[in-house]
Amino acid sequence: MKTPLYPQSIIFDFNRTLYNPETNSLEPGAEEMILYFYNRGWKVYVVAKSGEGREEMIQRTPFAPYLRKVIVAPTKRVEDFRACADDAGMPLEDIVVVGDRVKSEIRIGKQLGMLTVWYRKGKFADEEPDSPMEEPDEIITDLCELKNFL
Ligand SMILES: [Mg+2]
Repeated sequence: MKTPLYPQSIIFDFNRTLYNPETNSLEPGAEEMILYFYNRGWKVYVVAKSGEGREEMIQRTPFAPYLRKVIVAPTKRVEDFRACADDAGMPLEDIVVVGDRVKSEIRIGKQLGMLTVWYRKGKFADEEPDSPMEEPDEIITDLCELKNFL
């Protein structure tokens, strides 16, 4: 994968990607990666499923000030991801999606032509793609691996 020559945008899923509900703590590398992209001029977004005070929880994270926008919705929809792209004012292919579920954010990201990264860890690590539309472009098991190719 080519190294981008200009700032891009990145959309993170929240639950089980940036945050571990089992340990009630941030995932290792979550804060570091958000700062890594922010400091390089990237626009950083979070798209999260609503419930259990999720929005307040995100606003209380140490990385909240670096998020360009947070979208919280009952179910993740294509429109939510497109809204990030519209806000970023960038082509869809310049936007990266990182999430733990191939059947949710990876599928949506692929549908929009974004670059998709499956964080294959935890509860949904064995939920494999059933179709080409669920095949991620990259697979990581540690968030800091993003630095290897972005
Ligand atoms: Mg998730």
